[in-house]
Amino acid sequence: MKIHSFNVQPNLPESIKFLEELANDMWFTWNWQAILLFVQVDPKLWTASKRNPKWFLGCVPQKRFEELSKDPEFVANVNRVKEAYYQYKKNPQTWYQQNRRENGNLLTAYFSMEYGIGEGLPIYSGGLGMLAGDHIKSASDMGMPIIGVGLFYKQGYVRQVLNREGWQNEEYPDNDWAHMPVERVQDKNGKDITVDIELGQEHVKACIWRVPVGRTSLYLLDTNLQENTPAQRLITEKLYGGDRENRIRQEVVLGIGGVKALAAMGIKPTVYHINEGHSAFLLFQRIIEIMQEKHLSFAQAREIVWASSVFTTHTPVIAGNEHFDPMLVRKYMESYASKMGITWEEFLNLGKELPSSSTYCMTVVALRLTAFANGVAKLHGKVSREMWQNLWPTLPVGEVPITSITNGIHSASWISHELNELYRKYLFNNDQMGEIDASDTKAWDKLDDIPNAELWRVHTIRKEKLIDMARGRLRRQLTRQGLDVMTVNKAGKVLKKDVLTIGFARRFATYKRATLLFKNLDRLDKIVNNPQRPVQFIFAGKAHPADTQGKEFIKTIVNIAQNDQRFKNKIVFVEDYNMNTARYMVQGVDVWLNNPRRPMEASGTSGMKAALNGALTLSILDGWWDEVGPCEFGWSIGGAEKYASEAEQDAVESDALYNLIEQDIAPAYYAKGEDGISLPWLSLMKDSVKHIAQFFNTNRMVKEYYERFYVPANNAGAVLAQDGKAAQVADWRKKIADNWYRVNVVDITPKLETPILMGDKVAFKARVFLGNLTPEDIQVELYLGQRGSLGDIVKEDAVDMTCTGKEGDAYIYEVQVSPVNSGRQDYALRVLPANKDIPNVLTPLFIRWED
Ligand SMILES: *Cc1c(COP(=O)(O)O)cnc(C)c1O
Repeated sequence: MKIHSFNVQPNLPESIKFLEELANDMWFTWNWQAILLFVQVDPKLWTASKRNPKWFLGCVPQKRFEELSKDPEFVANVNRVKEAYYQYKKNPQTWYQQNRRENGNLLTAYFSMEYGIGEGLPIYSGGLGMLAGDHIKSASDMGMPIIGVGLFYKQGYVRQVLNREGWQNEEYPDNDWAHMPVERVQDKNGKDITVDIELGQEHVKACIWRVPVGRTSLYLLDTNLQENTPAQRLITEKLYGGDRENRIRQEVVLGIGGVKALAAMGIKPTVYHINEGHSAFLLFQRIIEIMQEKHLSFAQAREIVWASSVFTTHTPVIAGNEHFDPMLVRKYMESYASKMGITWEEFLNLGKELPSSSTYCMTVVALRLTAFANGVAKLHGKVSREMWQNLWPTLPVGEVPITSITNGIHSASWISHELNELYRKYLFNNDQMGEIDASDTKAWDKLDDIPNAELWRVHTIRKEKLIDMARGRLRRQLTRQGLDVMTVNKAGKVLKKDVLTIGFARRFATYKRATLLFKNLDRLDKIVNNPQRPVQFIFAGKAHPADTQGKEFIKTIVNIAQNDQRFKNKIVFVEDYNMNTARYMVQGVDVWLNNPRRPMEASGTSGMKAALNGALTLSILDGWWDEVGPCEFGWSIGGAEKYASEAEQDAVESDALYNLIEQDIAPAYYAKGEDGISLPWLSLMKDSVKHIAQFFNTNRMVKEYYERFYVPANNAGAVLAQDGKAAQVADWRKKIADNWYRVNVVDITPKLETPILMGDKVAFKARVFLGNLTPEDIQVELYLGQRGSLGDIVKEDAVDMTCTGKEGDAYIYEVQVSPVNSGRQDYALRVLPANKDIPNVLTPLFIRWED
């Protein structure tokens, strides 16, 4: 059967017609004045629409529009937002326009499986999607040329529905494209642009949806087309849905199809950013296109792709990284291997961590084929270098080329509008509509200018809203579960507005240890029911539909909260964690609790959201909080110690958690004066915001990606794309590989057996044999540091030596160094390949130390 459809648009009067335009750009999600317009139209309906303005406008009765179109105040508000929006769209004074410094025209294509842009576009599941959404939004605010590429899921991510026993069931609501801020991408004749993707023996078609996000766009591929078979239509049905086979099909559509879609739309990115390994197949499609276009070999095209690709890894546990059965990969990727002219074996090896590995790992592919790679916090960078050092067996672990760029949040999306007003007024001197740039560190230094009473008043308002939200959700849940009116009404009274409130909300992955707080219920009882200093808790979070243990955690907490008399009304589990719930929670709690098993939380971002809103942090030293370091404005649970067993770790850390709440946190919170304000608490709040908000934001993060990755990747990609350059570099790499065995450092002087004086210069001289290589091919480094216990050396500095001549067959290298530290200094000498045309010399697996 062929079904046709048409679309009925609401008919908005001219004076408020702009609402329609506003509803079609996700820009509204981070502009309170814009959101307020929808609220003013109909607050109840706005909530019911799940904050999806397009759906919302379709439900508002025409009469209401007529009424509003004659309301001068509302029309004035519409015009104000309209002006701000147009100003935003055309503003030539963006950060990027003022600071750009790459050669040529940079355009970064950012690929991700999920995006959290707004709750009206439910194509996210957790932190990975939030980060991707916030990256794109900051790109828009800063005018940075970045576009997003992802998948359009027919069903949004699971909605969590708890049954009476506290067990999580799932609902998969359909995403209704006609009522979402998306549009089909069409060619100039008005025909849908589609791409054809080879999927093993099949071909599948995908269309493209565009989501406007302020100054930029997100492009989403969708296989739910009549031309496709039923099984193909289901490829993009669910985020992380289906079996392993469907997952690899999704990743082929995202990676291969994404590159094809950009080409079909005439978009020509210069840099590709792979956000987690899911989209790494894009590397192969790029290689294929470059081979065809420029008539290059695999090895040559690979140089260009490698130099202009960026990879961000997010998962500090091997098993959590995407692994496929090689047979499955073969089914879908063998044809691409043959297009690249490489054998199946060669293709497979690109995804194997070790020659003996039995799985094909997308992270490994991405690390092998990108010149720029990073973890998402300092500690995570270190953990990643250790995790993946097998890929660079000759490098000291500290030099494994995975750096870190610490995550952030898009401040405007997460800050409460009440607090935003205070920050604007006292810190940013900004009018109501302008953006605030959270990476403006000087502004945050003025935080003490905010009067305590005002800050506390705003915090109290948000806390009351949070408690109202929790009560409302609980009533709704109990009503649905068929409970009696009395029980439902009682739910309207849970939690107290003047009690210290600690929040915990995140995915219920087991490493996040949501139940740690419940390890010793007697101690928890004493804390919660302390007569002078009571404490209450709000929990929220979803488990992955297949994660039974995560669901058990939820059940445990729900049961304690609902059935244990000691905790009734004092601990609440809020159903269906999503962006909206998250906002209420991070904007209203006093303290944000985070207790993952170190070092499994790569970064964590919910704590940054809470901190921006004045909540104090109570966290394990993991992810972003580890990077804050020792401080006075939050609490670390335990140190960075290693434990003999997980049980011991849980015991020690839950004790530490109870002690901190009892002995430090509650006393500080309840040190209230007569005005009901605790000065010690407010001073902690201010210090916390001051230190955290200025760094842990996506404006700073996107700037770092720009400066450290996008600019060099863009420039190196441009150099390598010049005629003959890629061939030259590929030949050079082969020459290095063929000749490296002859590179040898024989001799270094002086040997320095007697002490030298601080400030003296020491002259080093080395003799290096290069075989058929020349000094242009290599770099000799004097490597200074401290001898480690394993006969290695821990780097403090590496100094380039200069070639000063030749003695027989040996090249002479020299350098002078003034030691800056007294005491024993160790040094070693090494030779590395060097080529000014490629960005990251360490990636080739060659390095020669003096024997
Ligand atoms: C911020 C956020 C996350 C990520 O939080 P973590 O601290 O990384 O666990 C997940 N889900 C939602 C809805 C969020 O808003």
